[in-house]
Amino acid sequence: MTRFIFVTGGVVSSLGKGIAAASLAALLQARGYKILLRKLEPYINVDPGTMSPLQHGEVFVTEDGTETDLDLGHYERFTGVNATRFDAVSTGRIYSDVIAKERRGDYLGATVQVIPHITDAIKAAILTNTEDVDFVICEIGGTVGDIEGLPFLEAIRQLRNELGARSTLFIHLTLVPYITTAGELKTKPTQHSVNALQSKGIQPDILLCRSTQELGADERRKLALFCNINPSCVIEALDAPTTYQVPLIYHQQNLDEEVCNHFGLHSKSAPDLSIWERIVHVLTRPEGAITIGVVGKYTGLSDAYKSVHESLIHGGIAHDVQVKIEWIDAKQLEDLSEANLTARLSHLDGILVPGGFGERGTQGMIAAIQFARERKIPFFGICFGMQLAVLEALRNIGGHSEASSTEFGSTPLPAIALMTEWLKGDIVQKYFPGADLGGTMRLGAYECQLTPDALVSKIYKSTMISERHRHRYEVNSTYNNLLQECGVHITGTTLDGLLPEIIERQDHPWFIAVQFHPEFKSRPFKPHPLFASFIGAALAHHQRDVP
Ligand code: GLN
Repeated sequence: MTRFIFVTGGVVSSLGKGIAAASLAALLQARGYKILLRKLEPYINVDPGTMSPLQHGEVFVTEDGTETDLDLGHYERFTGVNATRFDAVSTGRIYSDVIAKERRGDYLGATVQVIPHITDAIKAAILTNTEDVDFVICEIGGTVGDIEGLPFLEAIRQLRNELGARSTLFIHLTLVPYITTAGELKTKPTQHSVNALQSKGIQPDILLCRSTQELGADERRKLALFCNINPSCVIEALDAPTTYQVPLIYHQQNLDEEVCNHFGLHSKSAPDLSIWERIVHVLTRPEGAITIGVVGKYTGLSDAYKSVHESLIHGGIAHDVQVKIEWIDAKQLEDLSEANLTARLSHLDGILVPGGFGERGTQGMIAAIQFARERKIPFFGICFGMQLAVLEALRNIGGHSEASSTEFGSTPLPAIALMTEWLKGDIVQKYFPGADLGGTMRLGAYECQLTPDALVSKIYKSTMISERHRHRYEVNSTYNNLLQECGVHITGTTLDGLLPEIIERQDHPWFIAVQFHPEFKSRPFKPHPLFASFIGAALAHHQRDVP
């Protein structure tokens, strides 16, 4: 039997609904249940693929090539369960499906309305492909009171009626602020937020209260009384030193116990949380620290590189070290003198250039790659980072100053070029210039073959891998010989051997760049081999400098 848990948010945004939903899922998994996480996004974009990462954080890509919200990254990292296109549902997607049906005449002359047509489509999206799991945890984006969120609240209200209270549970995540001048925690914003939810016909079953201070008996009593909730279901959610501690904190507060009680599930044995205990132990008591510089374009918002950030931390877990990350705005490295560049970068134990789009800042990224190459600092290039590493070698080693990417305009030496055709399995995929921006990229999981004796084969312990992609441009294999002359070894390609997927340098302790995005597959309990190896190399570099 499938049970549905709906997580709504109140009072303010950014309370961490995604982490809350993912943590509850991890706890239910630790109790032996099969879970599925799903996100309902009230925004009108069909998917976040066209949104600026500075506004909405990174675009997380699933195995099946869906461009989704960064919360799906939390879901995958906390549970190890790969999300699919069914797990990210936006208002834009619902409306475009309903409008397409209306155009086909599927509504048989009916007036198409929010209720029932939009709400029916939302309910169908929630219920799709859920038959073989014990729990579906469904996060509603935004905050209660947002106009865009209303159809979603209406849909989950209806589902409660249709499926019954024994199959559905409402969790409301709120803020209980501490007012310093009064020296008190305030429950009123939560009361108002629950009131707003009740006015939409939804009575929360569990309140998850984010707070910087412990909730006293008085606050719990008030919240239970005014919000019409069982006192044991008022759960305190204190700020955590690391997000990976949240499952442990919720468990101490009996969240999983209360959820199981609600559904009439009683187990005698405690859940096995040892993997979370080990992760938290390493993160809170590391045996050393190293510093990695991430040189990119969207460094003003660390959420723009959320998965890269987490994967570096996971690499640290693999070596029991703390990874300090310096976010370096590539633009600020442009036109620096040798001495100033050295002052800015020489203390770093590793340099990473992540994914990106457009020419702005690329001179700074290329300067950082050259610095890492010449000073033998471990270097990791991801997607755009690999394309720029190719340009760096051709320009600075080969003397081909005209080498460029067609992404930046036409060039006599298009070392990075738009691909017009590529293979997915046996099917030829085509790029149509001028088509909508959404969905014109090589997206999702593709297999890649590695050169047997290359460093990457040793790191992966395999010569056949599969990684997720999100890009339009490719390294132009017409110039493979030029690259070879510059010391760039292509050690991974697509299965047809045509598109370079990985480059390495053999005159450097650790210089690897990849066309795909390994950061989408790293988990705290299973650090990605490339990130673990990169941090290992950075640690060796650090120990060489600081014996
Ligand atoms: N802008 C590059 C491309 O489209 C790289 C994209 C990325 O780094 N994700 O190919």
